[in-house]
Amino acid sequence: MTEARLIDGVAIAREIRADIAVRAARLRSAGRTPGLAVILVGSDPASQVYVKHKIKACAEAGIRSLLETREESLSEADLLARITALNADPSVHGILVQMPLPKHISAARVIEAIAPLKDVDGYSVESAGRLLAGLPGFRPCTPWGCMKLIESTGIELRGKHAVVIGRSNTVGKPMALMLLAADATVTVCHSRTPDLGAHTRQADVVVAAVGRADTLTGAMVKPGAVVIDVGMNRLTPEEAHNKSGLVGDVDFDGAVEVASAITPVPGGVGPMTIAFLLRNTLQAARYQFELQSMFAEVDPPLA
Ligand code: NAP
Repeated sequence: MTEARLIDGVAIAREIRADIAVRAARLRSAGRTPGLAVILVGSDPASQVYVKHKIKACAEAGIRSLLETREESLSEADLLARITALNADPSVHGILVQMPLPKHISAARVIEAIAPLKDVDGYSVESAGRLLAGLPGFRPCTPWGCMKLIESTGIELRGKHAVVIGRSNTVGKPMALMLLAADATVTVCHSRTPDLGAHTRQADVVVAAVGRADTLTGAMVKPGAVVIDVGMNRLTPEEAHNKSGLVGDVDFDGAVEVASAITPVPGGVGPMTIAFLLRNTLQAARYQFELQSMFAEVDPPLA
């Protein structure tokens, strides 16, 4: 058996970001600068790193970003008030509140406070409903990125069996819906699924979004399957030895021997998530600028 082809998320994301940069430059030259507001509450080190990458990616794509860092003790009411202000700010087209939030703040209330037109994470009930109903809307960035990675392998999803491990609202469930929309037959597994391997061994495509290293071993992969590893698990310095300290949910060394294509961690899904955040932001900006000019035409300012 030959080793699987590596799916290079860094290279694919770079192409998408270059395309976004061209489109953002076009908007800017028409005096329309896309803007993303990012709110980080508390000092979770992983969140700080993710936010830093997002802000840097915005700068490289020509998207104006506004980073607001708040103390862990920020009240829910103050956060909601800030979101209300950003909703009304015409220079902000997308709003991202970095998760997880401190325990005293309801993530669901915060997500629903973001104006649907600015929901660039695609986490709101409105965005989820649009995905479910097959209507246009903001798609959650990580599963959307996974779809592009799967597409890059050339596999025809129609009629194939896809297994998603994980059923979170942000990754597993939207992933399953996107695969279904692409005409795959989809199985969703979770922590209560007995004999996970019995499902994954039947899969032409497996997406692992669990948050636990080695959930999917080589013996659980059907020969020739496409394996997408969403997991990001940090090893302790002792566990990491000389490696990056970041591993996915898949036993890479085992699965690479069996799969036809596989994403590495890091360098697989992570960069795609950021690329699609930029894409959603650009889309949000274009839509809001269109709306503004439409209303300006219908209702010209009084002289
Ligand atoms: P989550 O909300 O914690 O959901 C994890 C899911 O895995 C749950 O549905 C859980 O089942 C299931 N699960 C847990 N143990 C399992 C087991 N032994 N067998 C089968 N299923 C099991 O996590 P998430 O937000 O979806 O994220 C998943 C992973 O992806 C994390 O490592 C996260 O850091 C990573 N992630 C990466 C990116 C990226 O850009 N690369 C983006 C988002 C997330 P139950 O529902 O039954 O509890």
